[in-house]
Amino acid sequence: MRPSDLCLQTRGQGRRTAERFRASTEITGMKKVIQQPAREIPVLADYDVIVCGGGPAGCAAAIGAARHGARTLLIEKDGFLGGATVSQLVCVILSKNGADFQGIWHAYIRGLRRRGGLRDLEGSGCGENIRGAVDPEQVKFVWDALLSQAGVDLLHHVYGCNCLIRDGAAIGVVAETRAGTRALLARRVIDCTGDGIVAAQSGVAWEQGDGSHAYAMALTQVFRIGGVVGGLAPLDDRTMQTVAETLDAALARGDYTAPVITEKLRFLNYIRGRSWRLPERRRELLSVLSRVLRVDPLDPFDFTRATREGREQARQAADFMCRHVPGCEQAYLLDSAAQIGLRSSRRLRGLATVTEQDAREFRKYPDAIARSSWDIDIWPADSYTAPAVDHGSPAARARHARLADGDWFDIRYGCLVAAGIDQLMMAGRCLSAEHVAESSLRIQQTCMATGEAAGVAAALSLKEKVTPRELDAAIVIAQLEKDRDVQPAFQPSR
Ligand SMILES: Cc1cc2nc3c(=O)[nH]c(=O)nc-3n(C[C@H](O)[C@H](O)[C@H](O)COP(=O)(O)OP(=O)(O)OC[C@H]3O[C@@H](n4cnc5c(N)ncnc54)[C@H](O)[C@@H]3O)c2cc1C
Repeated sequence: MRPSDLCLQTRGQGRRTAERFRASTEITGMKKVIQQPAREIPVLADYDVIVCGGGPAGCAAAIGAARHGARTLLIEKDGFLGGATVSQLVCVILSKNGADFQGIWHAYIRGLRRRGGLRDLEGSGCGENIRGAVDPEQVKFVWDALLSQAGVDLLHHVYGCNCLIRDGAAIGVVAETRAGTRALLARRVIDCTGDGIVAAQSGVAWEQGDGSHAYAMALTQVFRIGGVVGGLAPLDDRTMQTVAETLDAALARGDYTAPVITEKLRFLNYIRGRSWRLPERRRELLSVLSRVLRVDPLDPFDFTRATREGREQARQAADFMCRHVPGCEQAYLLDSAAQIGLRSSRRLRGLATVTEQDAREFRKYPDAIARSSWDIDIWPADSYTAPAVDHGSPAARARHARLADGDWFDIRYGCLVAAGIDQLMMAGRCLSAEHVAESSLRIQQTCMATGEAAGVAAALSLKEKVTPRELDAAIVIAQLEKDRDVQPAFQPSR
């Protein structure tokens, strides 16, 4: 029987999502939930491993699984790969010491370099950071090539909704496709959607926020300014003084209302640093200046409010820069990212959790499958100007010193294995972690490392004929070590 001849039945799930709507439904007097009748869903495909979400974590997961013999399907809701790197224009590579550059990361960077899609930003006033900027267009091609080489099958414009569950184990995914609702069968499912939506809708416990609020960090509408000529160097004090006076006058006239401009200090600091420059040949600036505060990223109305507010902040900031900042005379707002930048949303519950102490104290574990060596980087959700990284306290200074010495904290295998549902894993920013730990491990290379580990583990668990829960982490670690790319293309220079 061909898979498409099969039909599966699914139940309406998403109890937690319904709960999230409680406040608004009570106000309007609408029903809190509705019952959806059971229905038949055609089966579109049948794979060993299905990865949901083609961002840094999902691409690496799919490659990791396919390399080890699993017939692997990656589903992605957008029409390109790269996730936030592309859709949110997160075109920036940051590391403190390179300890977090692992595995597939090196092939990714090599591919970008070959295509002229990488700009090293060493010596750009960035202190101990290892920095680069990537070309988001080339990111799409590099992932496409790496996935093809590994033999991963791909479906674009497919939105994973929830898992099909049988006897407490995931046996596939229900997805919205261009053909309608379809079932995709699999022996292992890996949620790399960033938002953890597939696992959460299947009943895996999760949390969000900073412990006190539904929000954890500010959202940022990244934007690009094109046509920037000359003067890419930071501005001198005299020029800055002129720019500041011009800004004061514009604010007094009421020309600008965006909070990022009204919070003048932060805005001027950005102009001084000129933000990020995209790869060679391109006269572009990339800005992560905007901040939208107190957003519940899982509330559809609030997220829409943030989207509109962020875009307006970007427009006003770009407008001022194009009119009044030297070097931007011929410039224009090139684009604002397709999606507002989201740093934190669901953190799914796994068999283990990366704790705040793990991150602060650089804890190591024998069952570690990845490393995080970035700052504790919490963009305050209630301030336009407060710094994201603490550089002042003694504890923060001690942490920075250890990072400068090459230290990291470990991410354990159990953080990738969903609690409560067998055959279901997760990787990237939705893995099992506390708020403070997530603020560090959300960085792209660490998401890739956890994705790769999840993919390899999914494939090995099939070979070993055990569930991911039963799989010995040592086997995964040994395989990752064998697969390790021995010639890193992106050399840290400290
Ligand atoms: C403003 C901002 C600045 C940042 N700065 C940096 C930085 O300088 N350096 C750095 O390394 N990191 C930075 N980050 C963090 C980093 O970009 C993200 O944490 C990282 O991309 C997360 O990777 P991921 O694969 O887990 O998720 P994502 O990159 O979000 O990828 C998830 C993918 O899943 C897809 N998807 C979602 N839902 C579904 C579904 N239901 N079905 C199918 N597909 C789905 C999405 O379209 C996307 O392609 C920044 C983030 C933001 C927002």
